[in-house]
Amino acid sequence: MRQHSSTVAQLPDAIRAKVNNHPCFSEDAHHHYARMHVAVAPACNIQCHYCNRKYDCSNESRPGVVSEVLTPNQAVKKVLAVAAAIPQMTVLGIAGPGDPLANPARTFETFRQLTAQAPDIKLCVSTNGLALPAVIDELCQHNIEHVTITINCVDPDIGAKIYPWIFWNNRRIKGRRAAEILIEQQQKGLEMLVARGVLVKVNSVLIPGINDEHLQEVSRIVKAKGAFLHNVMPLIAEAEHGTFYGLNGQRGPTSEELQTLQDACAGDMRMMRHCRQCRADAVGMLGEDRGQEFTLDKIEHLEVDYAAAMVHRAEVHAAIEPNARANSRASAPRCGNAGVAAVDEQRN
Ligand code: SF4
Repeated sequence: MRQHSSTVAQLPDAIRAKVNNHPCFSEDAHHHYARMHVAVAPACNIQCHYCNRKYDCSNESRPGVVSEVLTPNQAVKKVLAVAAAIPQMTVLGIAGPGDPLANPARTFETFRQLTAQAPDIKLCVSTNGLALPAVIDELCQHNIEHVTITINCVDPDIGAKIYPWIFWNNRRIKGRRAAEILIEQQQKGLEMLVARGVLVKVNSVLIPGINDEHLQEVSRIVKAKGAFLHNVMPLIAEAEHGTFYGLNGQRGPTSEELQTLQDACAGDMRMMRHCRQCRADAVGMLGEDRGQEFTLDKIEHLEVDYAAAMVHRAEVHAAIEPNARANSRASAPRCGNAGVAAVDEQRN
């Protein structure tokens, strides 16, 4: 069953205003607006069995992808250059290559500079959630409207099969207790963000035989706590990626299994099906990557007049808006199923 294509038309006004030009959250917006990621966060504070640290965070990127790590100053320069050259770029995310909140100094310095220099760019962050409650006040000082938390379970017995360890209070903690702490921090972080009016998307990785029968429960709970979108992604586990699951023959879901679960969860909350699991240094419209146009050697000597760029960007956004609204109306659901969203597209 294919779902209706517009999530946005069904949302309360306050939320719609926040997502209608966000290509990752709005199925309609991704045809008109672009996003970029900067990879400033190399470290991680947990281990997932589907991750190999030689590559980007698998919670946000397709496995096997390696992004170039930038300093905060380099990242800001790149963002300003891209925003001036691609005025449709409305959103900057930090999603790796490790966990952004396990690298708070680098992540927040990038956000601090961008909040001051480019107030017309929305900022996002994606996290495994372990450090979220501890940094939430700092996070909310920046121009951040959206946070993504990857929540694969709410049951520590299941979590112990996904997370071999976490690094917590300067110690490595293993087994069920590690999963228990991670789950507590994720749920607390979700509640704190919602209480502060930040939109929260939840990502879950569908792992057959591990959490497949559990994700509807996750969906129900995160919705009850105020998450705005739930994005169920398939496990991609290949031996050549060198992950624990890949090396031990854990399979990913079939497309039928993925869709069945997404359909089952859609009754509970708005599902997001146009996610492309972008690289941690992706640039451009969803599904395209113009990163090679903005490598450091190309932008190093660029002087960007961002005040002038902002004027041009505002004009471009004003021209896009009527089209985006018309598309949104045209794709709005014809029946009253208020909990569903988003066309299922082929991942690339
Ligand atoms: S949170 Fe991301 S970077 Fe950290 S272990 Fe999991 S998949 Fe890898």
